Amino acid sequence: MLEHLLQRTLPIEALPGIHHFNSVSVLRLDKISPLISGNKAFKLQGHLTAAQDAGRARLLSFGGPFSNHLHALAALGSQLGIATIGVVRGYEHLPLTPTLEDCHRWGMTLLFADKKTYAQRYDSDYQKRLAATHDAYVIPEGGAGLAAQAGCALLAPYCEGFAQVWLSVGTGTTLLGLANALVQQSYHCPELIGVNVVADQGERQRFLQQQMPNVRWRLLEDYHAGGFGRCPDHIQALIERYDALGLPLDPVYTAKLVHAFECEVSRDEAFSAGKILLIHTGGLQGRRGYQLSWPEALHGSVFQRPVIGHD
Ligand SMILES: *Cc1c(COP(=O)(O)O)cnc(C)c1O
Repeated sequence: MLEHLLQRTLPIEALPGIHHFNSVSVLRLDKISPLISGNKAFKLQGHLTAAQDAGRARLLSFGGPFSNHLHALAALGSQLGIATIGVVRGYEHLPLTPTLEDCHRWGMTLLFADKKTYAQRYDSDYQKRLAATHDAYVIPEGGAGLAAQAGCALLAPYCEGFAQVWLSVGTGTTLLGLANALVQQSYHCPELIGVNVVADQGERQRFLQQQMPNVRWRLLEDYHAGGFGRCPDHIQALIERYDALGLPLDPVYTAKLVHAFECEVSRDEAFSAGKILLIHTGGLQGRRGYQLSWPEALHGSVFQRPVIGHD
């Protein structure tokens, strides 16, 4: 089912509103399906293959209360009849966010972890214990990891003919997976520009410096707008401006990508890198955490099917 979705050709559209600059395009990963959206679909595709090889009954992963990753995982599990478990950062007594309500409705078992427990999520012993207790294949937070990188290789064909490809960076998995696939292509490799949405004191930069293959790339560090998940007024205003232009953006990732792009272009009057592709990595369900509408939610119960194999 997921393979089928990902093999559909996704639209590449002109970035609206950039009049002086007619060679900027947007790859709409948010249009994969209303609910399994964005780069998470590609990353999960890689993990799904690995999970099948591992022969585990369930898929387990970690995320915050607005996690795009848990949302996509729950949707996928519900569609494929695979039981899913979400280890959620936060406390059980808090009301469910719209994101977690969806996850719950789609059959995901939610395990709430306090700060101290959640802090162990990268610890391999902790992961092994979770895997054994729940007979689960454990997917790292944010859907990171080598399997996810492999899934992102499917993005490479879209980049042909572009001089630059821009995308937002959380864990850096999508950027890395794309870079590894691009070096295998026969066409001229575009320059990759990542926009870091996490204020991490250079941690992602160091990680990527160690991992990135031999491609031209840069990580822009000045566009997190106050830190992960922060949505100050200028980002909110940008989202409203693009809503009016027909391009829905999410506050955590894609609005910051477009903001970075606009700033870099206006800073340099002579900016002409040739054809540019911005990757819209989805995440629109997260708009609900910021009092922004998410139209798909209106016809949201796309997945009514009960979960099979969930005890
Ligand atoms: C998770 C996510 C990202 C970040 O992807 P990484 O592979 O972790 O860098 C970017 N955009 C959206 C919408 C996401 O949900």
